Amino acid sequence: MSIKATIDKIVETSKADINEIVEILSCDNTDYLFKKANEIRKKYCGDEIHLRAIIEFSNYCRCDCLYCGLNRKNSFLSKYRMELDEIVEYAEKAYKNGYKTVVLQSGEDLWYTRDKISYIIRKIKEIGDIAITLSVGERDYEDYKQWRLDGADRFLLKHETADEKLYNYLHPHSSFKNRLKYLKWLKELEYQVGSGFMIDLPGQKLETLAKDILLLKELDVDMAGIGPFVPHPKTELRNSLPGDTNLTLKVLAITRILLKRVHLPTTTSLEVTNIKDRKNAFYTGANVIMRKVQPYKYRKLYEIYPNPNLKDIGIKEERIEIENYIKMLGRKISDTRGDAITKSTSS
Ligand code: SAM
Repeated sequence: MSIKATIDKIVETSKADINEIVEILSCDNTDYLFKKANEIRKKYCGDEIHLRAIIEFSNYCRCDCLYCGLNRKNSFLSKYRMELDEIVEYAEKAYKNGYKTVVLQSGEDLWYTRDKISYIIRKIKEIGDIAITLSVGERDYEDYKQWRLDGADRFLLKHETADEKLYNYLHPHSSFKNRLKYLKWLKELEYQVGSGFMIDLPGQKLETLAKDILLLKELDVDMAGIGPFVPHPKTELRNSLPGDTNLTLKVLAITRILLKRVHLPTTTSLEVTNIKDRKNAFYTGANVIMRKVQPYKYRKLYEIYPNPNLKDIGIKEERIEIENYIKMLGRKISDTRGDAITKSTSS
């Protein structure tokens, strides 16, 4: 089968196997793939881009992830924790500036107990109709259950890589099997679930990326964060090369044609690696973008990887800047919460 025929088959059947995905990923000519991904994005998600406010509220982490600057062995990082009411205050500022979703992200920091996170969720829900996405890592089933009852809408927990051996090597504190168990719990609790993975982790092959995409399909995720790996100088992977952004665009595009209704953000790691490809991502399947809204003094310290694009800019100014950018792309700014797109909500 030609590449074009393979792409058409995936578009039509929403099915693919590893060999077909590898074949598309290996092909240098991306014109047809990108064109189809853009058409599918338009058909199922429309022209709206969803803006999400992210509050990175703590950089303490109990984990040893070999690629991440927050890992507990990185003694060069100055630590911070935002107060509970300070987190709520910044969620309110985001809401007043037009954001309808707030993503609460941190390292795995058990200082924020079940009750503390419950307090934050309940207080934010008093502000107005704002969706809450939690991204706080692996916790007890009872924690996830309580937070869902408190009103949390979504949970983001990336599977990082679908290669079990590589996953277990990169995460000595946990295991791939555990990760899948947590993702299943979140589905069971009826969160809108986000997963995702990094592109070009050392040891990763094109087959691995094919498995990553197929795992998103199998997990039936509502959103997927897919971005290039960015080496951090204070981690074990400091000498590895950054991920290829063109490969990232291909992976985004295949994810779009296979999963159709999934929310796909342009990730910060893509912006950091090649800012020009942020724009391209919106033409290869992406429909979401996140902006950091916590104070600059904390943004600087949430150093998963070095980010030279960080600016000391207020929530309002940044919102105006991103709205202008979206208009420049010829796309619309969504005025909805941007919940999971289902068969009944998409065209
Ligand atoms: N602790 C939570 C968790 O594990 O889900 C959320 C915080 S974690 C720092 C957020 C994401 O950052 C991870 O899922 C990972 O994909 C990404 N990340 C960490 N280090 C990275 C790196 N060096 N390059 C690209 N992405 C990275």
